[in-house]
Parts: sequence; structure tokens; C-alpha cells
Amino acid sequence: MHPATQESTPPPRRGCLCCGRPLRHTFVDLGMSPLCESYVPAEKLEEMEPFYPLHVYVCDGCFLVQLQEFVSPEHIFTEYAYFSSYADTWVEHMRRYAESISDRLALGKDSFVVEVASNDGYLLQHFVRLGIPVLGIEPAANVAKVAIDKGIPTLVKFFGEATARSVLEDSGPADLICGANVLAQVPDPNDFVRGLKTLLGPGGVVTIEFPHLMRLMAENQFDTIYHEHFSYFSFLSAEHIFAAQGLTLFDVEELPTHGGSLRIYARHADDTGRAVTERARALRQREVDAGLLRLETYAGFGEQVKETKRKLLAFLVEAKRAGKRVVGYGAPGKGNTLLNYCGIRTDFLDFTVDRSPYKQGKFLPGTHIPIFPPEKIREVRPDYVLILPWNFRDEIVEQMAEVRSWGGKFVVPIPSVSVLD
Ligand SMILES: [Zn+2]
Repeated sequence: MHPATQESTPPPRRGCLCCGRPLRHTFVDLGMSPLCESYVPAEKLEEMEPFYPLHVYVCDGCFLVQLQEFVSPEHIFTEYAYFSSYADTWVEHMRRYAESISDRLALGKDSFVVEVASNDGYLLQHFVRLGIPVLGIEPAANVAKVAIDKGIPTLVKFFGEATARSVLEDSGPADLICGANVLAQVPDPNDFVRGLKTLLGPGGVVTIEFPHLMRLMAENQFDTIYHEHFSYFSFLSAEHIFAAQGLTLFDVEELPTHGGSLRIYARHADDTGRAVTERARALRQREVDAGLLRLETYAGFGEQVKETKRKLLAFLVEAKRAGKRVVGYGAPGKGNTLLNYCGIRTDFLDFTVDRSPYKQGKFLPGTHIPIFPPEKIREVRPDYVLILPWNFRDEIVEQMAEVRSWGGKFVVPIPSVSVLD
């Protein structure tokens, strides 16, 4: 039997999201988990909570790493709890992007910028400030409303071929279409990329940011797997899906965000005015060299994940036996994957805290760990603070520097549990 083939569960009902082939190879199986953004209010703590499989496959045709869709995007995204503006470094990251891309593409008052999954307007606000006409497209009505209230035109819709056609008709073609952390969340990536192709004007550019699968694997970031993320892209698998719709990836940047992301730059395949850059060629080759076009490269990931769980639990068991008080910081989706997979509840973590008022007073899905405002940590003075959004660890350690004044220590769970000095 091939090491990537674990036939403990029946094969998924549907084929590959990209090429349609049957999915036969497990990438990692994280068991059953609740939807990671479904925070539980106090009055629902005693009700049944739906759990769905978090079983990730890799396609042996196009090497797209993917989850099956168990819950419709309508269910997940219509009322979404993630407001981008609550993360300072993220807003700053997008401000720099808005300025550099406006420069690079010479965008001005006659240009048209569209952002797909524009959230609360955290990015488009910077283009608005530069005097560039924008349109946001955002399916979560509660989040879109925040953007609209800020004066950012926003269409409450899912993006795909049909939405692209209607925007094209109403507002004309786009000079820049951007999207960050949306490609992974699209149930039909072919339709999404077809939409990009449809709406993109001649000479226009698409930039899309997504967490980089090569980094996820190398750095053990299995907690970034959740039901809301259907696909996990490498440069190679993104290139494959864009090429199929007549778009060429001509440049790429490697970014530190979300544990290591790619920002790919695409143009119409026949727009040869923009040459494919050396760094795009180089990254492509690095992925080929890393084995991302061979099935066996994906096979070892599951065991690596199990070992991470054993180490984190060993740390927590030892801390609790020594009478230490451990709390969490943050209530991100990734924390919920981690805590549910590892079976960590209030037996290990007394509570967690989050800056988002939307989450405060609620409980983490599945584990029912209570979420308080950050001030709670100052009140309780715990021995260890487990940072769940480890991608923001520097920002959090700085904000919560006071923890060290009573001898408290910060701990990160990924790539493997470690106490920060
Ligand atoms: Zn495939």
C-alpha cells in the first residue's frame, strides 16, 4: 500500500475541486471538529453542537490539497465573526500593499479596483484615501455593513463568474482585482478564477494572497486547516488552476503573513507585455525541488501532526501537575482546530481572551472555553499564556508585556510547543 493511502474511511463522495478526479489519498485526518467560527453564546452551551470531519485529501492528478465541503458557504459566511481591522499588523500590511501596487500599476482616479472578500474595508479604505475608485465584494452582510458605513462601496455577494458578469455590466472592467485569504475559502475555485478572468480589463492585474502550502507543511501549521478553508494551495497548484482559465502567473511575493503566504500576480495569458519574473520561476522550481509534484511528499505530514499533539499535551499535563495556571490568548479559527484536535478544554486552559467584542462573553466552539477581554489576564496573573494566533505572536507579546512582570511566560503551540524567553 502506498504510504499516502489510508483507507480507514470511505472515499469522499465528490472528486477533486479543481480537476474532478476521485480523491484517494489522505493528507491529514484531524478527526471531527465543529465549525471554527461558530462561537457559542452562554444560552446555547447545553445544546447539541454539529461536528464535521476535518479530513484533508491530496489529489493525485493536480496535487491540490483539499477538504470536502460539508457545510455550505452561505451557512459559514453570511454572519462571519472575523473583522480584519482588529489585527493591527494585518491592517498595516495591507496599507503598504495598497501604496506599492498603486505605484506599480500607476493607478489613479480613472482606475477601478475591486477587492473580493473585502471584509470590513480594511484594505479598500487605503485606495479610497488615494482617490482611486473601488468596489468591495463581501458575502458576510454584517461585515460588509461596517465597510459601507465607512463609505466603501460594497456588494453583499459571493464572487464567481455570475457576480463578475454583473459587476462588469454595471461598473466596467477592473484594472486591479485583489483578494487576500479568499481563494482557500471558495467551494468552486474554477468558477472563482473564471470570474477573475471575466472582470479583468485588458492590461489589468489580479493579485491574490493565500497561505503557502509549502510553509504549512514545513512548519507544521495544521491548525490553519478548517472547514471554512476548502483548498490549500502551492504556487504550482494555483498556477494550474489559473492557467486553465487563461490567466498567467507572472510574479509572486513571499509574505510573512499567516505563517507564510504567497501573493501571486496574474494577467491575461495573451498580455505578454508583463514578462514572467525571475522570482516566479525560482519559486516554481523550489516547489518542484521540494517534491510538491510527487505524492510521497504529502504522505508524512499526518505523523508529524500527531507528534505535535503529543508534545503539546505533555507540556500541559506537566504544567497542570506542577500547579501552574494556564490561559489562552486569542480566539482565532486556528485555535479552535488545535484545541479540538488535541482535546484541550478548561481542564487545561482556564479561559482565553480576545480583543474582538464580538467574541467576548462567548465560548469557543467544541471546547467551550470562555472568552474574556484581554484585561482578564492582568487580573488573574497566570503562569503561562498560550498564544493561539501564533502568527501575531510578536504583536501579542508586545501588547501583553506586563505578563512578564509577575513572572508569567508566553507559550506558542506551533511548529511545536515552546516557551518564549
Ligand atoms: Zn485534482
